[in-house]
Amino acid sequence: MTHRYRKRIMSLILAFVVIAVSTITVSAPSFATNFSDIENHWAKSYIEIISTYNAVSGYPDGSFKPNDTIKRIEFIAIMVNSQGYDLRSRSEDEYWGQPYIETALNSGLIVSNEYGNMDATAFDQNISREEMASVVVNAYIESGGTIDPLALYDADSKLSDFGAIAAVCFEKAKAAVALDFISGYPNGTFAPKKFATRAEASIVSYKLLLKLGIIPNANLAENIILSKNKLTQGDLLKITVHHATSVSEISLAQDLYSNFKWYDQGDVIEGYIPTNYSTAPGVYSLKFTNSETGITTTRNIEVNQRKFRVQNLTVDTSVESSTRTDDAYAEYYKYFNPSRDVSSPIKYYTESFLLPTKGKVTTEFGESRYVNGALTNYRHAGIDIAAPRGTEVVSANAGKVMLSMPLVLTGNSIVVDHGEGLFSVYFHLDKLHVTEGEMVERGQLIGEVGSTGFSTGPHLHFTMSYYRFNIEPGYMIYGQSITKDNYMELMK
Ligand SMILES: [Zn+2]
Repeated sequence: MTHRYRKRIMSLILAFVVIAVSTITVSAPSFATNFSDIENHWAKSYIEIISTYNAVSGYPDGSFKPNDTIKRIEFIAIMVNSQGYDLRSRSEDEYWGQPYIETALNSGLIVSNEYGNMDATAFDQNISREEMASVVVNAYIESGGTIDPLALYDADSKLSDFGAIAAVCFEKAKAAVALDFISGYPNGTFAPKKFATRAEASIVSYKLLLKLGIIPNANLAENIILSKNKLTQGDLLKITVHHATSVSEISLAQDLYSNFKWYDQGDVIEGYIPTNYSTAPGVYSLKFTNSETGITTTRNIEVNQRKFRVQNLTVDTSVESSTRTDDAYAEYYKYFNPSRDVSSPIKYYTESFLLPTKGKVTTEFGESRYVNGALTNYRHAGIDIAAPRGTEVVSANAGKVMLSMPLVLTGNSIVVDHGEGLFSVYFHLDKLHVTEGEMVERGQLIGEVGSTGFSTGPHLHFTMSYYRFNIEPGYMIYGQSITKDNYMELMK
């Protein structure tokens, strides 16, 4: 390690001592690498690695508070120290950040009117993402860093909301994207006015130190993110692993779902574990093993019981005898079942799922049924939404139509593949407005409510599934189950 880098790292330590002392607590900062609250956080590996360089610190209680905002002066102090500048000592009763402000101004990290009055009140404000971008790019340039002009040329086309960036920050924000200090949110936005979090400031600091050669280009440990730790029967668990080099690097041993597989999305690998009425409630272990390091990480999840309803249904015996025949089932198995066996390995959608039609929920997900007094051996695969014949039915999300045809049992039926094994299913439609193989948009009209097939009146039977494994659609749309009790509130 050169003298210059050692000096920088010492300065970084000092920066966080100052921050900890001045804004958080008077006790010594904790440089623990096992922060208590980042286990399921996307920035975990970055926070851990820069904390081993003592570049960031947590709180005395062992937490890091990754989602808390960070003040302008706190971020500027990190950047000033990362440049290894000497600071004048602070005089007594002076604002702790004053020497940092002066150095930042003298060295071009900020400009003279950047934060209005440039007093303690202004510097104690939370820093926005566009301001953070501006400071980090200035720090990089001041340190002799260069920017590829070709990367800069189209950087503002990478994210959708560059028009919202303040003029004073615009060029630096473009450079921050070109340099990948800021890569934007999954929905393709920069969110320039949003306050930066401690996690975001950590990753930006990490990237700066990496580009300046202070941190070696080390392999980051994999970072496993579970969409939730507690599920209810019918819920879908999503697992995201950051910093895995390939799907073969991480194996998962678990007893919940036998057909688990990973999807490689480049930056991350993703996989799903569906649950429903067939999943026994209890605590399950997920054991992730890295084939290269041999390290196993165990995470526990809890599946809670749902009280499924029991329904008594009276169906005209002539309807029942004409639709529930061996031939009708054979047709259903032949066309419907395989329509959910092949899914695009890349997601077709970027937005949340929509309820395809509104109306009265008459059957919940997972209900068991007595039809004409006899208990049926199946559970309700989706939700039934009663609505007038002809009511519009839209696609729950972007996807590809895998099936659109009349079937004796389920009437006019549509299956849409959304990618990565997620499917939506629409039965008993009066009219079909799409054809097999067609790409559909989120919210696109695909059919109309009807009463075709084994049906007692106009309604949409809507199912969501992971391949053939049916899940509660409400979790995909509202983050909770859709029931007879809550549907009116949810559908408002
Ligand atoms: Zn139904």
